[in-house]
Amino acid sequence: MAFHGAGRQTVCGDLFPGSDLGHKFFCGAPSTGLGATPCLTGPSAPAGTPRHPTALGGGGGGAAVPQPYSNPASEVPSPAEMEPDRPIGYGAFGVVWSVTDPRDGRKVALKKMPNVFQNLVSCKRVFRELRMLCFFKHDNVLSALDILQPPQIDCFEEIYVITELMQSDLHKVIVSPQPLTTDHIKVFLYQILRGLKYLHSAGILHRDIKPGNLLVNSNCLLKICDFGLARVEEPDPSRHMTQEVVTQYYRAPEVLMGCRHYGSAIDVWSVGCIFAELLGRRILFQAQSPIQQLDLITDLLGTPPLSALASACEGARAHILRGPHKPPSLSVLYMLSDGATHEAVHLLCRMLVFDPAKRISGSDALSHPYLDEGRLRYHTCMCQCCYSVPTGRVYTRDFEPAAERPFSHSYENSLLSVWQGKELIHRFITEHQQGKRVPLCINPQSAAFKTFIRSTAWHSSKVSRKEER
Ligand SMILES: [Zn+2]
Repeated sequence: MAFHGAGRQTVCGDLFPGSDLGHKFFCGAPSTGLGATPCLTGPSAPAGTPRHPTALGGGGGGAAVPQPYSNPASEVPSPAEMEPDRPIGYGAFGVVWSVTDPRDGRKVALKKMPNVFQNLVSCKRVFRELRMLCFFKHDNVLSALDILQPPQIDCFEEIYVITELMQSDLHKVIVSPQPLTTDHIKVFLYQILRGLKYLHSAGILHRDIKPGNLLVNSNCLLKICDFGLARVEEPDPSRHMTQEVVTQYYRAPEVLMGCRHYGSAIDVWSVGCIFAELLGRRILFQAQSPIQQLDLITDLLGTPPLSALASACEGARAHILRGPHKPPSLSVLYMLSDGATHEAVHLLCRMLVFDPAKRISGSDALSHPYLDEGRLRYHTCMCQCCYSVPTGRVYTRDFEPAAERPFSHSYENSLLSVWQGKELIHRFITEHQQGKRVPLCINPQSAAFKTFIRSTAWHSSKVSRKEER
């Protein structure tokens, strides 16, 4: 595909005209009083000569506080300290903080993965997420920039991952008074599907696609984040999968109906709900309970045919069949907003299909004409894959690349104990860091870090999701 005549004059930076999304949305977290806390070592500290946390006095904060390795060899660089600045959000599992990388003064996001070694299931889940974050290489998928140096294995309790810091997320944008034009919606939806195609091509189901897990910058760059519930696709339909996935408003009907095996179509459903939410600026199916959620879906799509209920559990099937027969009322989608054009509603209706087997795939959705303008805009001035020369723009050969290889999870079968998992994760992080820059670690003495630990503990006690394979 050639975009002749599309030069750099297309101003993507103006997608939020007259305002600075960064200032309006940046961090968005309640003030902790720590926002202005400067980084202790800061950009001025020369790399390679950082202060050592253990040299700051005090005995550290107990086993939960990461301690650096002692440096056995002089050629091994000392770890640079990293002090959390302020919290920016909570994922399905873990807390995210905005921090300053002392090596270059760059603001990055620090995610703490707590309670890693409580049991084998959480150990596997965290290792999976960690490996995924290190596996991803796609502009619309958040990946690990670095992993903090773990302490010696006896004190190894938590994992800290550094990712790129994004300014806001789609939930905050949708509920803000910020104008959302059709151009915004197209370029956001294009990037969501572009990232999703990559994930699905790697055999990964995200299982918690929602506006809060779609990070955005003021230039409208979007990245899918939070892989705490992600897993590899299950090819064997006889293997049961958990239904404790996806925030209810974005949960696909097959999951609501207790289907024991599902695939990547559940993520496409979530994207359809988000597409409608971008158009209407309100949650499409906002129910109080899973049953009511299913009722709202059938109010819009009509009573599903029996063939779409094949995998439903007995109770869900009975609920649908004993209710009144509902005709579809899809025409209400045109009333979402002025942006709900025929093309938009057509694509929306291909995503919001009750039967997952008939729902459009993420990859096919990208071919829908509604997304042509989003693709053009993205590759004209937002992407990393195309570039400009004096005579115009040189476009990449593959606008929506798939993963180079599937994500491998074969290691999980050989993971049989928490201790073995601890060793494997420790080795994985250590090997991942080899040959990289000065390793980073937390400064456990800082006031900000103590707040970080407390907020994490508070959050951890609230997380009690059922775990699964
Ligand atoms: Zn490009």
